[in-house]
Amino acid sequence: MLSKSHPRYESLVLRDKIVKASKAGYLADSAMIAHGRGEAFDYLLGEKTTLPAKRAMYVTVAIMILSKNPVISVNGNTTALAIDEIIEFANTIGAKIEINLFYRTDERVEKITGLYHDHGYPEILGSLDDEITYINEIKNPRASASKTGIYSADTILVPLEDGDRAEILSQSGKNIITIDLNPLSRTSKMSDVSIVDNVVRAIPFMTKIADDLKSQDEKLLRELIEDFDNDTNLKESLELFKIKEDIK
Ligand code: ATP
Repeated sequence: MLSKSHPRYESLVLRDKIVKASKAGYLADSAMIAHGRGEAFDYLLGEKTTLPAKRAMYVTVAIMILSKNPVISVNGNTTALAIDEIIEFANTIGAKIEINLFYRTDERVEKITGLYHDHGYPEILGSLDDEITYINEIKNPRASASKTGIYSADTILVPLEDGDRAEILSQSGKNIITIDLNPLSRTSKMSDVSIVDNVVRAIPFMTKIADDLKSQDEKLLRELIEDFDNDTNLKESLELFKIKEDIK
């Protein structure tokens, strides 16, 4: 039992969710390593949402509102950490959710599909009975996509993505947006918008932004997007990792 007074309580709660998901059998072996890497970056960031991350989130929401077929790509980690928040965000912004696993097995897909159903989201794409096709005609599991989802999407939000897959997506001509605590990852560098923040903070924050931006003028949304430069924003995110504390 975790005590709320523990200084690392929130981080330990997330770690516990990942351990449980792993035991439930829907995470790949490397999922814990990916989580640990994220944890380390978040520690250095002070486990807070930064200004550049907020800026990237406003732009993300604006792009998603203006998109015809925005899709949120989910894997085991994002499901374990933020399933309800992802469903709420998708419903608020009018996006689809698609299961997309780097190490896709029928068993994992079935378990994750079941979780979305249990959490009140039966329309989940990328399930075993969905029609799967290949982006850029690359016959490789990393390029697989649902025909009505990622394959035909104009905007894809891919939290915690792997660089190889991000590369395939970035060559597809779609808007690629990532949430990745590592501003130096290949995914962060390749995406059109990179949100350097923890997925558990970013998704609910974007739901709030969506409630606000949905009623705004299209012109304002377009200005937000045009004024944004991902490389500059990533550099600002990186600056915030400077360690200010001294060892006493
Ligand atoms: P790349 O291939 O893009 O260079 P990578 O090899 O690190 O990156 P993975 O290990 O597949 O790719 O992806 C995990 C990424 O997700 C890491 O960059 C990690 O920092 C990030 N990450 C892990 N947990 C979280 C989280 N909760 N929120 C946001 N990002 C996270």
